[in-house]
Amino acid sequence: MFRSLTQKLSDAFYFHFKIIPKNTFQASGNFCLMLHGITQGNYGHINSRQLPFSLFKEHMERLGKYYQPVDLETFFHEKDKNHKKPLLAITFDDGFANNLHLAAPWLVQKKWPATVFVTGLNQSAYPYIWADLVDLAEKKWNIPELEIQNHRFIRQKGTLRHEQSFCTLRDFIRYIEPDASFKEELAKAMELNDRLANYRESSEWFTLLSNQEIKALDALPGIQVAAHSAFHNNLGSLPLNKVKAELEMHADWLQQLLGRKVPFLAFPDGSYHEALKPICHAAGFTYLLAAGGFRSPKDPEDPSIIDRKEISNCGRAATQFFDMYRNFN
Ligand SMILES: [Zn+2]
Repeated sequence: MFRSLTQKLSDAFYFHFKIIPKNTFQASGNFCLMLHGITQGNYGHINSRQLPFSLFKEHMERLGKYYQPVDLETFFHEKDKNHKKPLLAITFDDGFANNLHLAAPWLVQKKWPATVFVTGLNQSAYPYIWADLVDLAEKKWNIPELEIQNHRFIRQKGTLRHEQSFCTLRDFIRYIEPDASFKEELAKAMELNDRLANYRESSEWFTLLSNQEIKALDALPGIQVAAHSAFHNNLGSLPLNKVKAELEMHADWLQQLLGRKVPFLAFPDGSYHEALKPICHAAGFTYLLAAGGFRSPKDPEDPSIIDRKEISNCGRAATQFFDMYRNFN
C-alpha cells in the first residue's frame, strides 16, 4: 500500500514537475522504437527484454499522445522532415510468438503500424534466441559450469565466464565464437531439451513464432514481418563471406514464406560495420536498422540506415520515460 503510493507519487513527480518537460517529446523529433517480446507475466527477474503487456500499453498510450505512429517505409522517407506531431515507427525484434497474441491485436485495434523482425531460428534444432538460453542457464537453472567446444565456462556471481579469459559467455558468443554452431553446442551443453521437458512455468517469454504464425502476423492490417538474420549471429563479428551466405539464405526463406520481397533488416544486437552495408543491399535489404546508437561514422549521412531507441523491462513506465528523455538530450 505504502509502496504503491510512493510509486504513484514518484511517477507524478517525473511527469508533472518538469523533470520531463511536457514539450520534450515533441521537441525530440521523429524516432523509431525497438521492443522485443510483450508478455502476460513479468519476467524481469530473468531478462529485461520482455515487457509485460500492462507496461507496454502504458508506454504506447503515452507515446501516442505526442507522436504519430507510421509504417517503417514512411518513417525512412519522412524522418528528416519536421512534422506537426513527430513520427514514431514501432518495431519488435526477435519474432516472439507473444507479438502475435498480445501486442499485434492491440496495435491493429489502434490502427498503429508496426514491424516485427524475425530470425530463421524456428527452423533449427534448438528454436530459441541464444541470449534467452544464456538467461535460462544463468538466472533460471543456475548452471554451475558448461563445457562448449573445449571451452569451459564457470559461474561466478551469477554470470558464466570463460575459465581462462574471464570473458562472459555472452560476450564470448558475441565476439569470439559468433558462429551458429557454437550456439547449437551451447544448447547441447545445457541439456536444453531435457530441461525444457521438465520446465513447468510459462514459456511465453522465449517461444518464437512458427512459420504459420509469421504468415498470420504479416497478414494483419498494418503489421509487417521483416528480417533479423537466419541465426541471430552478431553480423559485425562474422567474416564477410559468412554474413553474405546467411543474409542471402534468410532473404530467400522469408520471400518464400511471405510471397514477397522483404526490404528491411534489423541487425541482431545492433552489430554491423560499414563494409556490411553493400552486402545487405545486394541481398535485397535496402533499409537497415541499428539499435542503441550508430556504429559507423558515415551513418548519420546514410539514408539507408536508422537508429532505434529501446524500451526494456527495467523499471516502471515513468522511470523508463525518464531514461528515454535523457537519451534524447
Ligand atoms: Zn535480436
